[in-house]
Amino acid sequence: MPAMRVLRVALDVPVAKLFDYLIDDAMPAGPGDRVVVPFGARERVGVVIDVGDATVATSRLKPVTRVLADAPKLPADWLEQMRFLASYYQRPLGETVAAALPPRLRSLKPLPKRKQPADNSEGGAAHRFVTGHAPNPAQAQAIGRISAALGAFRTFLLHGITGSGKTEVYLRLIAEVLATGRQALALVPEIGLTPQLEARFREAFPEARIAVLHSALEDTARTHAWLDAARGDAQIVLGTRLAVLTPLPRLGLVVVDEEHDASFKQQEGLRYSGRDAAVQRAKLAGCPIVLGTATPSLETWFNCRAGRYELLALPERAVPGAKLPIVRTVDLRTESAEHGLAKPVLDAIRARMARGEQSLVFINRRGYAPVLSCEACGWAAGCARCSAHLVLHSTDRRLRCHHCGAEQAIPRACPTCGNVDLRPLGRGTQRIEETLAGLFPEARIVRIDRDSARRRGALARTLEGIGRGEGDILVGTQLLAKGHDFPNLTLVSVLNADSALLSTDYRSAERLFATLAQVGGRSGRREQPGEVLVQTRYPGHPMFQALVRHDYAGFAESQLAERESAGFPPFVHEAALRAEAAKLESAMAFLRTAARLIEVPASVQVYDPVPHVITRRAGMERAQLVLQSASRPALQEFLREWSAALPASAARGVRWHLDVDPIEFD
Ligand code: ADP
Ligand code: ZN
Ligand code: ZN
Repeated sequence: MPAMRVLRVALDVPVAKLFDYLIDDAMPAGPGDRVVVPFGARERVGVVIDVGDATVATSRLKPVTRVLADAPKLPADWLEQMRFLASYYQRPLGETVAAALPPRLRSLKPLPKRKQPADNSEGGAAHRFVTGHAPNPAQAQAIGRISAALGAFRTFLLHGITGSGKTEVYLRLIAEVLATGRQALALVPEIGLTPQLEARFREAFPEARIAVLHSALEDTARTHAWLDAARGDAQIVLGTRLAVLTPLPRLGLVVVDEEHDASFKQQEGLRYSGRDAAVQRAKLAGCPIVLGTATPSLETWFNCRAGRYELLALPERAVPGAKLPIVRTVDLRTESAEHGLAKPVLDAIRARMARGEQSLVFINRRGYAPVLSCEACGWAAGCARCSAHLVLHSTDRRLRCHHCGAEQAIPRACPTCGNVDLRPLGRGTQRIEETLAGLFPEARIVRIDRDSARRRGALARTLEGIGRGEGDILVGTQLLAKGHDFPNLTLVSVLNADSALLSTDYRSAERLFATLAQVGGRSGRREQPGEVLVQTRYPGHPMFQALVRHDYAGFAESQLAERESAGFPPFVHEAALRAEAAKLESAMAFLRTAARLIEVPASVQVYDPVPHVITRRAGMERAQLVLQSASRPALQEFLREWSAALPASAARGVRWHLDVDPIEFD
């Protein structure tokens, strides 16, 4: 009988352990190999994490079925990253590895064959770099600092106002990295932002191989992109947060654009922060990472202040003559807002129409009206499965729940009193669009929200059209706020900013500032100066004051002071334990038990369980408890022990998860 060894294999099962299999000594297999193994009645693909001698009784272990050699072995630094993520976010290693591999690499199906693309990356052609601009002094300074750091780990915050030429800085650095034969990884927060960055990369590097990775790719495309990256064939890897989980054998630079964006945080399964994972990744690869944004997250700003990250500033717009927009508040206490739009806003739109310029009306709420109600009895259309109102959608005359997706026809009459005069309350994009169409019958109005962008490619086409000057008045949500460059847009009006100020979430001011700076940044990107009008009942609020002055630093400092005195991140570290069950009491009972399950060290604070603000969602009642600690290691150590003890104490029907560094508490 040949000598045997034991392989410790990570499998995609919700158990925090590795599984042992035997392998014949003659068969080459080691950490990072994908293997097919028997598991229960079927076979599964797993990843070898460790190899050991068969010292223990191995008679009950099954042999590995086969070792897969169709893709590169997963490298040591990648395995290290998986171990780190699993341990930091308290998830089983098998599940972490599975989250990082495209579905095809975890399946028993053979990998799709690649039609070999005309490979023109030979002979240094890949490094050809095309650019139109010589860097301005601030850009040159940033490029110089980062390029001097190539070859070693270091984190930079590139704090550049909208239109300051951050992308140009990335491009020049990537050019340097490609010239040394290394790979560059660039992350964006949303799938919708990949096409435009890809276009700029392709223009700048006409011969480079660029792999694009995000979750909306179909299976074959995603597998090919992943393999291109993992084999080192792709010089540039561009994608959303999951791209940070790709093996990159020659990683030389990481860029995280819009690093403050909440979309970098995964909200299910392995709840990782793509930005934080990217910093960790750069550390493992020994290369610099650039976090770029006009409005840094307070965590990142705090890290700069503490000297852990190096701050590089681009304080001016890059296009000569282009200026930041003039920001003004429109006081809703003194200005009447007919149908949601105050007179100064309507006047400003009219002036743009007369000059042939574009206006954007920003309202972060899609649909026609957030509530449909009966004035006679006070009834309001609610979702049967969520503690939330149904949103009225006028284009197809439906009521929709924005939390669970449930929908129904608009009732003819009030279900409680029979009144046929049901009224929409409040405003969404569709209603504002309707109002504007009535006020400006000659205007071409374009609405951009998730409803209008539903069809694949529709959003990209619409945005391109706007960029070419199509549309006089744009009505849009967040979808419009990010990254796009609309040369003819000179006015941005913000309608319902106040709702965020009244939120109980301590991050809402930070988010609102970022959103408004972003959306304001869409205007006046060329010679015409832009104007931003914010309708508010709180024009004196420090957040608006800072926005008017374009004073991110002042805003950040005042927020940090508040966070420090209230004991919120980044001054403490947080985790949340969340539970859901058919009955709220079951979820609460689990959390109360959990809070007493093991001894809590003095360095960790466990707060009382509370129901979510939107308690019921999709038929489940939800509650959570928050943990805080001034010491990350202390919190981590507690979580490790706790998460091992938690599964046994959850009653049937209670689903729960841990969220480390949570950012959403709704
Ligand atoms: P950001 O990423 O900071 O929003 P971009 O890199 O997209 O900014 O640059 C904004 C605009 O300025 C683009 O049209 C870009 O071509 C232009 N630009 C960038 N750098 C320069 C420069 N050094 N000189 C002139 N124009 C520049
Ligand atoms: Zn009624
Ligand atoms: Zn619902």
